[in-house]
Amino acid sequence: MKKKLSLPVQIFIALVAGIILGLLLYFVPGGDNFTKDYLKPFGDIFVNLLKFIVVPVVLLSMIDGILSMDDMKKVGSVGWKTVAYFLVTTAIACVIGLAFASIFNGAGLFPDLSGELGSATYEPPAYEGFMSTIVNIFPSNMWTAFSSANMLQVIVIALFFGGSIMAAGEKGRLARDIVTSFNEVINKLMAFVISLAPIGVFTYMSWVVATQGAEILGSLALVLLCAYLGYIVHAVVVYSFSAKVFAGISPARFFAKAFPAMMFAFTSTSSAASLPVSKECADELEADKDIAAFVLPLGSTVNMDGTAIYQCVATVFLAACANIQLTLGQMVLVVVTATLASIGTAGVSGAGMVMLAMVLEAIGLPVDYIGLIVAVDRLFDMGRTCLNVTGDIACSVCVTKWEARKVSTRN
Ligand code: ASP
Repeated sequence: MKKKLSLPVQIFIALVAGIILGLLLYFVPGGDNFTKDYLKPFGDIFVNLLKFIVVPVVLLSMIDGILSMDDMKKVGSVGWKTVAYFLVTTAIACVIGLAFASIFNGAGLFPDLSGELGSATYEPPAYEGFMSTIVNIFPSNMWTAFSSANMLQVIVIALFFGGSIMAAGEKGRLARDIVTSFNEVINKLMAFVISLAPIGVFTYMSWVVATQGAEILGSLALVLLCAYLGYIVHAVVVYSFSAKVFAGISPARFFAKAFPAMMFAFTSTSSAASLPVSKECADELEADKDIAAFVLPLGSTVNMDGTAIYQCVATVFLAACANIQLTLGQMVLVVVTATLASIGTAGVSGAGMVMLAMVLEAIGLPVDYIGLIVAVDRLFDMGRTCLNVTGDIACSVCVTKWEARKVSTRN
């Protein structure tokens, strides 16, 4: 019998084939349009399917996870560990981003685009302020939250329903069974959609390489390099360390198992769309199913280490373009605002660039400057989403171990 290639191998082959085809088409006149018109739509279909299942996946798996924990105290314990992991790793990400950006800037490696500042145009969407962001986490209409795929609101709904079904005891039995049954069904659907991932990776990769090759070769290459060095160092240092020290998983095994989700995030540039794939990977790494069902949806909405690195690098670069060297105080402000901005960033394509406005405003730079890097945002976004998703998976295996240790010390 012929052995079927495993999903990570299929995804890897799709990635390499996509790059090769993209490179070939980059040099063929009209090749970029061919990828846009005939290949990208297949990637779009795949992403649409993921988006279509992501709300039921988050809602049902989170309620099911809460019900399986069967104890609000355990939910609280998982919750604070998760949030602590997210905050600490994001703050470290900011420091790494700032360090690399300062080294590049100090060594004069950033391109001088000060001449183009006047022509930079970018219309940021209105930012409603911190308190209204908090208020908006709480849905006023459940269906609107679902139809607009507002993941933070969906998480709040799942928490409330999970807690209430538990509180209803025997009378909530039917609701509990319905959730468990639908959760099984959506898991089957998810497995089918994920099996199509190589098609999504192949078509998106060839499109990006064929259409953005010129941008990669352009003047922003060194800024991109700076951000990618930050992403890689963060992954190698922080995630290897936490996988090994906290979860007892060798870094090689961690990255090998997380690979499908990382590649999928890299090509789709959406943490939310990558969620079904991350769930599979966390499963492979033996993360507790209930814990992963809690950590991953939350992480895909609030845990964005890659976005934080990008925002720090972009801020230092744009400040340098305006001939401003950041003081230590301003750098601390960048760490704080980039941490908050990354939390507020939605897990969708390009959202991190929108939230960059908040960091620029904090240090008094005009948000218009974003116009200088907007053309290559997708290239920044690929790496930062890949890192964001890896961080969520790392957190789920660490929290699994911490919770298991707590139980074994109690026994
Ligand atoms: N695309 C990123 C994500 O989904 C968010 C961002 O734009 O930084 O994780």
